[in-house]
Amino acid sequence: RHALGSLGKSRAKFISAEETTGVSFNDFAGQDYIKGELQEIVRILRNDEDFQDKGIYCPKGVLLHGPPGTGKTLLAKAIAGEAGLPFFAASGTDFVEMFVGVAASRVKDLFANARSFAPSIIFIDEIDAIGSKRGGPDIGGGGAEREQGLLQILTEMDGFKVSTAQVLVIGATNRLDILDPALLRKGRFDKIIRVGLPSKDGRLAILKVHARNKLFSSEENKEALLQEIAELTEDFTGAELQNILNEAGILTARKDMDYIGREELLEALKRQKGTFETGQEDSTEIPEELKLRLAYREAAVAILACYLPDTHRPFIETNIKSIRSQPNMHYAETPGRVFSRKIDYVNSIVRTCAPRVIEEEMFGIDNLCWISSKATLEASKLAELLILQTGMTAFGKAYYRKLGDLVPNLASKLDALREEYLRYAVEKCFSILREYHSAVETITDILLEKGEIQAEEIWDIFEKAPRFPQPSVRP
Ligand code: ADP
Repeated sequence: RHALGSLGKSRAKFISAEETTGVSFNDFAGQDYIKGELQEIVRILRNDEDFQDKGIYCPKGVLLHGPPGTGKTLLAKAIAGEAGLPFFAASGTDFVEMFVGVAASRVKDLFANARSFAPSIIFIDEIDAIGSKRGGPDIGGGGAEREQGLLQILTEMDGFKVSTAQVLVIGATNRLDILDPALLRKGRFDKIIRVGLPSKDGRLAILKVHARNKLFSSEENKEALLQEIAELTEDFTGAELQNILNEAGILTARKDMDYIGREELLEALKRQKGTFETGQEDSTEIPEELKLRLAYREAAVAILACYLPDTHRPFIETNIKSIRSQPNMHYAETPGRVFSRKIDYVNSIVRTCAPRVIEEEMFGIDNLCWISSKATLEASKLAELLILQTGMTAFGKAYYRKLGDLVPNLASKLDALREEYLRYAVEKCFSILREYHSAVETITDILLEKGEIQAEEIWDIFEKAPRFPQPSVRP
């Protein structure tokens, strides 16, 4: 076994190699079932006797999927650290270059290196960059390259025998839906684990991990403060929670204080949110007009969520207790795989337009304000995703990672198509909100009066409200 330092510098510069990561499962908090599953793999890798001669084999590939910042890289490192194996990491984007053959030869290098140190771990972050669905004409140019790289990964994974010295390949992605199904077949990435946003208890556990090296005035004080932060950070990722503690540490040091206090933590939280937040439960400080706009926005989002329900994300409640540039609607976390059809993508664009459309409808186009501006951006992004990366529109039967992949005359075609989808989405959204105008008003009134409204009541209003049918909107 040679030293890792002997990796050829020039050829392997896109690979990062570590003798061992030193990361353990204790560094990852929340979602304990994930650790449970991975612990089993670590025991097999370590040749634990419970598993020997029982015909239990280690999977060749583990795919971790979930939003960025949820700890996928951390988990991959923890597997390597716990098993005490060398860790080879690369990113899918590193493989994709415009030169023919580069992707495939990089994949070969990566696997050859890992194999010479087997047993070892390979980690490929953003594997979707190279492993997205194939097919269709290669207009952009990068497609053939990607395909070569992907085929090489498949060849390498099919190549190693299960019983001999193990190379475990761990992939990470936040776009499971666009991965080539060939990658997910038996004997490849056949262990798929979702790493989701942490629950409240999970957030508290993560905060505790990152508070280990921070000073608080007392254990009780620390416990109470972290509890409070955990409650205020729904939808935050582990990476964001870590940032809050780091930021609070910096603020504390700047004030020349010894212990992190409530004020610093709340200030750090506010910065992390990057938005103006009023005191959570207290909506009295929000100016009346802004409150009205917020209430209309949330009501419109609610009506759209009823009219075009997303079965994978049932909504729970909304409120006007905080001002953010995104809607306050809360959704349930649903486990398992999501299958999105083209119509689901289109509907999500329509839903996303709601804040902008209602504000224009109620306050006029010259009176728009920032609380709806994110909607336009989001809707454009979704349309771009649909057109560029799903291969489901007339424009693309190919996959493009980003606009830069496109040759110039295609970019203008993309623009035209995006405009077309947005036009439809905005018109459709107007039509729905006009049809359900009375329900929008009812929900707005309730929000202004009580500050919040639950899903059950929203559905009830939606179903019973008088409707004002509109002319149909053509795609
Ligand atoms: P991903 O690979 O999913 O984008 P990372 O593993 O890079 O996320 O997460 C970035 C950092 O955020 C980690 O190094 C870790 O410090 C912190 N973090 C994220 N999730 C968790 C978690 N569940 N427990 C502890 N720390 C976490």
